Amino acid sequence: MDAQYDAVVIGMGPGGEVAATQLVQNGKRVAVVERELIGGECGYWACIPSKTLLRPLEAAAGAAGVAGLDAPAPDWAAMRDYRDTMIRHLDDSKQVEGYRSQGVHVYKGTARFVGREPWEVAVDEHRLTADHVIVATGSAAALPPVDGLEEIEVWTNRQATTVEEIPGRAVVVGGSAVGVEMGQFLARMGCSVTLVQRGPALMDREEPRVGELAAEHLRGDGVDVRTGTSPRRARRSGRDSVLELDDGTEAVGDVVLMATGRRPRLEDLDLEQVGIGPGAKGLEVDERCRVAPGLWAVGDVTGTALFTHVAKYQGGIVAANILGRERTADYTGVPRVVFSDPEIAAVGLTAEQARAQGYDPVSAEVDLPRGLARPWTYATSPAGRMGVVADRTRRTLLGAWAVAPLAGEWIHTAALAIREGIGIDRLRDGVFQFPTYSEGYLLAVNELEL
Ligand SMILES: Cc1cc2nc3c(=O)[nH]c(=O)nc-3n(C[C@H](O)[C@H](O)[C@H](O)COP(=O)(O)OP(=O)(O)OC[C@H]3O[C@@H](n4cnc5c(N)ncnc54)[C@H](O)[C@@H]3O)c2cc1C
Repeated sequence: MDAQYDAVVIGMGPGGEVAATQLVQNGKRVAVVERELIGGECGYWACIPSKTLLRPLEAAAGAAGVAGLDAPAPDWAAMRDYRDTMIRHLDDSKQVEGYRSQGVHVYKGTARFVGREPWEVAVDEHRLTADHVIVATGSAAALPPVDGLEEIEVWTNRQATTVEEIPGRAVVVGGSAVGVEMGQFLARMGCSVTLVQRGPALMDREEPRVGELAAEHLRGDGVDVRTGTSPRRARRSGRDSVLELDDGTEAVGDVVLMATGRRPRLEDLDLEQVGIGPGAKGLEVDERCRVAPGLWAVGDVTGTALFTHVAKYQGGIVAANILGRERTADYTGVPRVVFSDPEIAAVGLTAEQARAQGYDPVSAEVDLPRGLARPWTYATSPAGRMGVVADRTRRTLLGAWAVAPLAGEWIHTAALAIREGIGIDRLRDGVFQFPTYSEGYLLAVNELEL
């Protein structure tokens, strides 16, 4: 069966959803193809369940940390039920119905390319031709090449976020966002967690201080954080899943969560059929998110910055260009948040990245409870740190980070300053609400030796 569209969207995670919605709302004839669930990885196995599971534990720790409240005990059955509500019991029928009611043709199946000029996509027995095709197929967990993995109980984000029974012991491999969030979640649920990180620090794309503080907080939750080592071999020993590490030690769990990065989901698209070869990190796009004339890509599959907000932003960029409103992407000042407790937030460049890009960086770090009132009204034994990186020559903010309560909210002040090139002198003249964590910016920018 053949059908002709203005645009076909392959993959209905956040990136695909934004593009499809904006196109159909602007009168385009749109088809979408989704082989699993509309909402994508984010909605069912990533952002939404992880944040939903972490929040009650953060609230309980918050209650334990203020005067006059006792720590409420987590009720796993209730937490799990709410998680299941939030992931719609892995059912997207309302989403399918919602798109159909807007006039979008929804195909449930795996899309692959079968033709070019015009673009032609096959989904089972259907043949869809379109002026524009948007690839928004996301990413999947990438497993490291470790011998014996097939012998042990391996989890990816999918099993971790849909967990039914909390394991007694878990090994988490990987110390970036997914490893830190899920490691803390499991530990706070009473699981004995060993976290193995190959590099010398956790969160190794951030300022080294961020990794140190993340490790400190995880250790405070009882996580055995082991840095500078990685799995060499896996084996089963009775019911144990054992990882032999390259420092000669072992890590043992009932399960091993691999939080070791992502790979673009390209394998079923048959892109080579239409003469498109992926780059090292995914589908290479230009500043308008275009792969080739009439072929576009958004989200994790582009390997740009693996966040939902970036996928959604790119979805908007592509829709605008297809609608004839030329728009280019600007990734300056995109926030990066880990929703652990306390939150870890960062934006812009680290000092090292700034130096590598030819800036003359100057940094400052502040202890928030030392300088602010808000941490003390927030908790009886507060902790929280933040840092800023500025360019000495231009006197502008280049980067900022915070490991502190609600940092994912107030990092946006720095995000905006970096994106808009707001000068340090202007920030020093800022008037921030008292008593808030945002006042930390005044402390930090005043600490800069500029
Ligand atoms: C545990 C975890 C927590 C995370 N938390 C956050 C967070 O808090 N905030 C944040 O910003 N980011 C977070 N992320 C990252 C975020 O999930 C991704 O950046 C986001 O999902 C990318 O969206 P996307 O639209 O590119 O693709 P996806 O959400 O991956 O969706 C792609 C869709 O394409 C479909 N598809 C694939 N191939 C085909 C095909 N051939 N035919 C048809 N359909 C196909 C898939 O079934 C899928 O539904 C997290 C990731 C993980 C793993």
